[in-house]
Amino acid sequence: MSQRPFILDPLFRSLTALPGVGPKNAKLFEKLLGGPKVLDLLFHLPIDFIDRRFSPKIKDAPNGRIATMEITVGKHFPNARRSAPYRVQCSDETGTLNVTFFHANKDWIKKQLPEGAQRIISGKVEYYQGQAQMVHPDIAPPEERASLEAVEPVYPLTQGVTNKTLRKAMDGAIGFVQPLPEWCDNEYKKRNNWPDWHSAVHDVHHPPGANGMDPNHPARARLAYDELLSNQLTLALVRDRQRKKAGRTFNGTGELRSKVTAALPFELTGAQKRSLDEIDSDMSAPYKMLRLLQGDVGSGKTIVAAFAMLRAIESGAQAALMAPTEILARQHYEGLKPYLETAGVRAIILTGRDKGKARDTMLAQIRNGAAQVIIGTHAIFQDAVTFKDLGLAVIDEQHRFGVHQRLALSEKGKGTDVLVMTATPIPRTLTLTAYGDMDVSRLDEKPPGRKPVDTRLIPSEKIENMIAGLKRQINNGARVYWVCPLVEESEKIDLAAAEERYDILKHFFGADNIGLIHGRMKGEEKDAAMAKFITGETSILVATTVIEVGVNVPEATIMVIEHAERFGLSQLHQLRGRVGRGADKSYCFLLYHGPLGETAKERLATMRETEDGFVIAEKDLQLRGAGDILGTRQSGIIEFKLAIPSEHAELIAAARDDARLIIDKDPKLESKRGQALKTLLYLFERDQAIKYLGSG
Ligand code: ADP
Ligand code: MG
Repeated sequence: MSQRPFILDPLFRSLTALPGVGPKNAKLFEKLLGGPKVLDLLFHLPIDFIDRRFSPKIKDAPNGRIATMEITVGKHFPNARRSAPYRVQCSDETGTLNVTFFHANKDWIKKQLPEGAQRIISGKVEYYQGQAQMVHPDIAPPEERASLEAVEPVYPLTQGVTNKTLRKAMDGAIGFVQPLPEWCDNEYKKRNNWPDWHSAVHDVHHPPGANGMDPNHPARARLAYDELLSNQLTLALVRDRQRKKAGRTFNGTGELRSKVTAALPFELTGAQKRSLDEIDSDMSAPYKMLRLLQGDVGSGKTIVAAFAMLRAIESGAQAALMAPTEILARQHYEGLKPYLETAGVRAIILTGRDKGKARDTMLAQIRNGAAQVIIGTHAIFQDAVTFKDLGLAVIDEQHRFGVHQRLALSEKGKGTDVLVMTATPIPRTLTLTAYGDMDVSRLDEKPPGRKPVDTRLIPSEKIENMIAGLKRQINNGARVYWVCPLVEESEKIDLAAAEERYDILKHFFGADNIGLIHGRMKGEEKDAAMAKFITGETSILVATTVIEVGVNVPEATIMVIEHAERFGLSQLHQLRGRVGRGADKSYCFLLYHGPLGETAKERLATMRETEDGFVIAEKDLQLRGAGDILGTRQSGIIEFKLAIPSEHAELIAAARDDARLIIDKDPKLESKRGQALKTLLYLFERDQAIKYLGSG
């Protein structure tokens, strides 16, 4: 049951409590706002303001500008035909202006503009055949001039909700807003010149001053901070809860690691060693590890994970590695098995594909500890899977997990350490909003000998030339990925496009030399297609985006991406990361169909200019927005209503520091400020976080 403070109740009332919102348009409002309550409306911010303060005489009113003028109503010229306009001639001492209505309701016009009366009209001045006119202005008698607000907010709307209706409801909603106890640090608030919460809510809708759309306007910034602080507090609480759980101490003997090190054909990079040190110190500490290993594609996360697993195994525990797809799980398994075997470690792979007796055998081995490393898909965290003693869980390429899911997962074992790996280069600010509960290690250095990928933009008309070039390269032994795009939401249509391309390419390269892989194939079929490409039996692999994550075929040197203009930046970056992994020079051909829109142009130019995943991520954030990058649109994890991560980077960092400090000092939020912060958590409906407070 919710303990929400009574003081917030008005804000959580139904929208139907507001003027002009009945049961019928409440549905429309709810769809527009994404929620059914008064607060959802208050957080619906204007996208523009119409400045009605300009108040010229008729002869001085410039074409195209919004003006508010006092006029005397003159003669009416009703429309003769339905389609003709209804005009009312108005004037002041400097000239005349026609007020014009289309599809007029004659009675209404006569009532609004009685001949001879004084009126205030407000709207856009236009010149039509040399005559000033105003179409459908807002109208008020002189004594109600104030009702034509000086600065009028303009809101995002939906069919059936007009700006006028919305403003009326908003005025009602603002009337519900009460002062709340201050949860912001007073010093910080003063330094930023921020208003109180209740003033801020008023000001974002009626900003004093002209810069009301600026994300750093004090009222907007304050509300953004409130939202970010509620996010960071939640993360800090999760972190605190993790830390207080009894963890395991894995000191490791180093025995298995040194065997594997001896068998490795390369040395770890500095970044790999540093990350491993950080992991080691977490694993040997008595609290649970919750660490994010962030590294661009090809930076060598897998071996770091393997070393972490060996440490758990050296201490007699088991380790699990979960990958998001079966292809990846299999690849990890095949890649790690030789090393693990060298060290005498027994690894198994468990995926959704395993059924019946084989599965039972594996489950038994996991239960009795014969299996030391368990690699697989999410199947390894199903209820039926019981570990003898799971010491470390590694989750690969998984950036679509919410904070609460991570917590649930890590609570599968007793004090199990958790290492999450992601190749999605997330801008620092977003790392904080999504992974603020975790500690972060970064692989910011690639293994030596990587050559830059030569990236070229190729208009689709030149496809034949490109194919001819590919043919030469393939004759010289090159291996090529050919990625077909997401055409529509429907997988069927994507598939058709890929199959069609496959058929065409067969003619050029010969059916035996080309493979096809897509999401609808059975697991075994995918493996077979992948295996042929890995061994070089086929030189071209036509794929839908299933190859996006993690695939490692160092001999592949050419990546063709068809309809590159339809892909997002980080997706393009991930795909390009599939090549440039071996010793030979690699290419990425971005085939595009013009004409390109502005953002598509920028995306492709960015790809050509840089291979730095973090630069690309920042650009992506600018071009897209936070929700898309973290994949939260689909999973509904973090969606900010007020904060804009690309604009409020500093506020994010400040909120993070603030939240950790608070939770360190007052983990139950019992102080005066702590109480206020609880109100904040309720305000942003972080109910889950509030539960953690009770159950530390
Ligand atoms: P990712 O970070 O994308 O998961 P992988 O772990 O798949 O990267 O590693 C990519 C490739 O780099 C693999 O072939 C791996 O064997 C190799 N690799 C990893 N670390 C090093 C290193 N220190 N020196 C040379 N090659 C390395
Ligand atoms: Mg990987």
